[in-house]
Amino acid sequence: MKTLLFILISLVSFICYAADGCCRTVVVISVDALHPDAVGSGSCPNIFRLADGGFFSRDALSTDPPKTLIAHTAMLTGMSPDKNGKKDNEWKPGEAKAAQDTLLSYAGKKGYSTSLIYSKKKLGYLGKDADREIFSAEDAVDAAVSVLNPEEKQFIFLHISGLDTEGPVSGWMSAEYMDEFSFIDEQLGALFNKIKKSPSYLIVVTSDHAGHEKIHGSDHPEDYKRPLIIFSSEGKITDVPADALKIDGLKGYLETLF
Ligand SMILES: [Zn+2]
Repeated sequence: MKTLLFILISLVSFICYAADGCCRTVVVISVDALHPDAVGSGSCPNIFRLADGGFFSRDALSTDPPKTLIAHTAMLTGMSPDKNGKKDNEWKPGEAKAAQDTLLSYAGKKGYSTSLIYSKKKLGYLGKDADREIFSAEDAVDAAVSVLNPEEKQFIFLHISGLDTEGPVSGWMSAEYMDEFSFIDEQLGALFNKIKKSPSYLIVVTSDHAGHEKIHGSDHPEDYKRPLIIFSSEGKITDVPADALKIDGLKGYLETLF
């Protein structure tokens, strides 16, 4: 009888879990201009802990050309620039936003409250279906910490600037670039600690493009590189389909996870 009761309870909890899906909290973070080779246990212990406990690849790629808004539009719409039509890197508040559904649209339909938090104004182009939109040049991570409520079913897309200004000034992978990255990782540590209060969560850390020397956005192979880290509290993700490493393939894959 006890066994039967146990099976029944397990079955009910499984059905409830399946209906609710993974996860209560979904946070997708794009660290602008992050070169995958910068990711290591010493440079970014908080991010590296996720990489170590989840999926980590240094072989994800950007759009062509590998530029901020073109890449983020492909990432969030799940369409190549040819398909979504965003082939220039410019947008200003007041201009028309992307008409296509984004990962935020998908999350909204799944019952998540959605936030788009970004530190470059042009990312406002992707705010069509965001319940909440916050622009913060300096304090995007703090804004995400404030917005995050582990009790609520939430989806947050967080874009962090800093490396995209340090790279052109001091060089990709320079000491100054790495210092800036360590600072970003320290800030993210506070966000991760709050996310961990959620009963189930999915964290993605990626980027839009990298750079080389003091150059980015060119056709140099280094400029196209991106890291991809996916951590789920519901079990270690050890492999992803090859398509998920393409910047316009990530959306489709993430939609299978929550
Ligand atoms: Zn960028």
